[in-house]
Amino acid sequence: MNRPYANLSRRMTAMALLVALIPLNGLGLSLYYYFNYANNETLKEELRIRALNRASAIELFLAERTALLEVLAHSARLTQLSNEATLSRLLSVMNRRSWSFVDLGIIDAGGDHRAYVGPYLLKQQNYREAPWFQQAMLKGVYISDVFLGYRQVPHFVIAVKHGGDGQEWVLRATIDSDVFNRLVRTAQVGKTGDAYIVDKQGRLQTPSRLGGKVMDRAGVDLRAVPPGISVKERVNRHGDEVISAYAWLDHGDWLLVIDQNPKEMLGPLNLARNVELAVLGLASLFIIAAVLMLVRLFIRRLQANDAERAALDAQLAHSARLVSLGRMAAGVAHEINNPLAAVSELAGEVQDILVPEQAATLEEGDVIIDNLVRIQNQVERARGVTHRMLKFARRMEPHLESTDVNELLRETYSFVEKEALFNNVQVKLDLDPGLPLVQSDRAQLQQVLLNIINNALDAAGQGGWVRVNSKVEGSNLAVRVSDSGPGISRDLAERIFDPFFTTKEPGQGTGLGLSISHSIMQRLGGSLELESQAGMGAVFVIRLPNVAPEAP
Ligand code: ADP
Repeated sequence: MNRPYANLSRRMTAMALLVALIPLNGLGLSLYYYFNYANNETLKEELRIRALNRASAIELFLAERTALLEVLAHSARLTQLSNEATLSRLLSVMNRRSWSFVDLGIIDAGGDHRAYVGPYLLKQQNYREAPWFQQAMLKGVYISDVFLGYRQVPHFVIAVKHGGDGQEWVLRATIDSDVFNRLVRTAQVGKTGDAYIVDKQGRLQTPSRLGGKVMDRAGVDLRAVPPGISVKERVNRHGDEVISAYAWLDHGDWLLVIDQNPKEMLGPLNLARNVELAVLGLASLFIIAAVLMLVRLFIRRLQANDAERAALDAQLAHSARLVSLGRMAAGVAHEINNPLAAVSELAGEVQDILVPEQAATLEEGDVIIDNLVRIQNQVERARGVTHRMLKFARRMEPHLESTDVNELLRETYSFVEKEALFNNVQVKLDLDPGLPLVQSDRAQLQQVLLNIINNALDAAGQGGWVRVNSKVEGSNLAVRVSDSGPGISRDLAERIFDPFFTTKEPGQGTGLGLSISHSIMQRLGGSLELESQAGMGAVFVIRLPNVAPEAP
């Protein structure tokens, strides 16, 4: 492809790609980002709601247990509760619905155990210094953080102070960690979801699924957690990106944390997003391929059209040159005719004057007579040439006239006779003497005959033969031109009438001869066809309607 076409092709490709790909990819990428955003927001909202629900459930759990203990502390007397049999019965009644209390203890104002029912040996312990005891004495009701205590097992307690009737004592119950942990774990979803409670010091109050034990550091920056419920993207202590929902529990010291790995939760949604991206990619590739193909096709078409136009322009210029050449020839022939007539006349006069008797008296008189005859002959010959030139020039103008096809064939042959002789090609004219005259355009018909005979001579080559036959065929006159050349294969036969199709060396053929001849024959109401069979020389048939010439 030469430069202007390559530039045009580049510009068209760039333009088409910009126009097609920018809106498509703009739309696709906006959808992609919207997908991402919407998916994340959906997950965050879902986590917020889950945190709210689970926090309410945990608060309800603690509130129910606290209320139960409060009713007990305020309605029973110390003497009643100091009886361990009574206390044990109360514990089993309280655990009847759900097993959530591990033990119950009554501790007097001095911190000593008055009564204890439960699996540990704590009866002798004094709790005066225990923070939960001090807080319960101070606030009336206290839910502790998880601590080891005398039993050296992580646990937490709910302590309720009895007071008002002059006696102060504390009813303390240990909450079953398994039951409580199970409750917190209900906030976990999927394979990677995690839910746990953290105290104000950032220590785990329930185990974390991803390896954190109770009382370990949870890796949550509590200062960054606003009050109430909040959701945040963060990196957890394992280095994974997670979305965390935080909910401060009512009594304000515990934080429920729900971690979710967005990759797991958003898997199906992200798949849809990725499919969208893949479709976008494929559509873009398809558009690029289509644009490249179309532009190539268009440029090829353009190139072919331009070449065709250039060749037609050249043909037109050539024809115009021929027309002016014809006119010039006519002028020249006319001009030469007069002096020739004069020469002939003068030679005739001298001949008339010089009667044979006189000539005999002259020295070399017979030579003079002989030369005069020669002059007359040469003048006649020159006249013949000028007449042919005049006839040819007249034929440049297109018009219908009475045409003798046989005579036209002989004349056309006379144009190429020298060449045929030179190339040692035997030409045989096999013309039907009964061929009628027809109404046609002699000049154009001669152009066609010349083309076909020239092609046949080219194909026959040195030592070959060409046969030209004319005859009447139904309502047509048919002229067959056969040659001894290589013939035309089936493949080539489909293309030889295409403009610019040539198998000849560059500069030898234009590939226009057959296409122009074909259209001339159509214009003249006839046809031009290839009749030869593969493997044999070519046979072209020119058919003309047998239309009688108009009366002059
Ligand atoms: P050009 O002669 O300039 O090539 P044409 O349109 O006259 O253009 O012919 C087109 C092609 O048809 C030729 O190049 C040649 O391959 C084929 N052709 C035409 N006449 C003959 C023939 N008599 N024998 C074999 N091939 C022919």
